[in-house]
Amino acid sequence: MSTTNLENKNVPTVLIVGAGIAGLMLGILFETIDIPYHIFDRTSAIRPLGSAMGLSSNTFPIFEQLGLYKEIMKFSIPFRSTEIFDSGLHKLGSINLDHRLFGYDNALFPRAKFHELLLKQIPVDKISYNKKVVSTEEKNGKTIIQCSDDSTYEGDILVGADGAYSGVRQSLYKHLDEKGMLPKSDLDDLEIGYLSMLGIATPKNPEKYPQLKGEATYLTNVIGTDKTWRAVSLAHNQISWSMGIAVSKEEGQALRFKNSEWGPKSNEVMIKGVDNLPCPLGGTMGELIEDTPKELISKIFLEEKNFLT
Ligand SMILES: Cc1cc2nc3c(=O)[nH]c(=O)nc-3n(C[C@H](O)[C@H](O)[C@H](O)COP(=O)(O)OP(=O)(O)OC[C@H]3O[C@@H](n4cnc5c(N)ncnc54)[C@H](O)[C@@H]3O)c2cc1C
Repeated sequence: MSTTNLENKNVPTVLIVGAGIAGLMLGILFETIDIPYHIFDRTSAIRPLGSAMGLSSNTFPIFEQLGLYKEIMKFSIPFRSTEIFDSGLHKLGSINLDHRLFGYDNALFPRAKFHELLLKQIPVDKISYNKKVVSTEEKNGKTIIQCSDDSTYEGDILVGADGAYSGVRQSLYKHLDEKGMLPKSDLDDLEIGYLSMLGIATPKNPEKYPQLKGEATYLTNVIGTDKTWRAVSLAHNQISWSMGIAVSKEEGQALRFKNSEWGPKSNEVMIKGVDNLPCPLGGTMGELIEDTPKELISKIFLEEKNFLT
């Protein structure tokens, strides 16, 4: 096993673990100020998974400066309010989220489109795939990461942008714990509150959903007793949807680490349990699921935790 030294300049080299939204965004910023960096991700290829994501209006100045604002707007829709219903689709209320006074709208878009745009800004030789980081260490003032394929890389600064189950964080915590410096609450497990399934439908018959003609998104949330679901009109005649089934503390503990990666895993059973739910945009949630390519439906656990360090 030999260690690859990525240093190529007389300035610190940054190792970024995770090519998600955070890791790519940091890479783009380093690109603009010429800081050497390299991004490592465990996936073999980026797949267009996920549902809708939103950016709040106050984040847009940075995208304007990076020349990406207009590009983001090509696949986005303004996001100005959200409507809340009970499981019989009786309206419980709405929340006004109109932030136009900051100079921009909030925006909603398919996460995959935004991710693809960020990825395009990073030179291909600055990302390595199939690099699952399993441990990190500090030696002689350098940071070293070890990947599951036994490769190691050396740099000066390490950034963990590897999501909720961050291996970098776990490694850092192990070192801090050995030194007695880790707050006890940081050792507690992530709590899993919901099992969630989601995707983006491209309805065969968009006329069925008049909300798709709106200038801004029609964002709906339904709150049932043990389930929540959501349907959201997006740009270009698409509808993002998601549904969550509440899990007990015990179920959550049993599920932990079973499915921490986004992807289409055994969704059929869950689909059967939710396809008759009424969709606030019309029809049933099952009809939206039918209009979504199966390989792009993700099932994921939604976890909660505030870390102190
Ligand atoms: C495929 C996918 C789809 C998503 N879809 C949605 C969505 O529709 N709506 C929404 O609100 N949020 C979604 N999320 C979550 C959302 O992107 C993040 O919660 C948020 O943007 C924070 O981004 P992040 O970069 O910190 O983490 P993430 O976006 O979770 O990215 C983490 C990255 O780190 C990589 N990684 C993890 N562990 C390791 C390791 N040990 N070694 C190397 N690489 C590792 C992962 O492959 C991933 O690319 C999705 C995340 C993913 C990965």
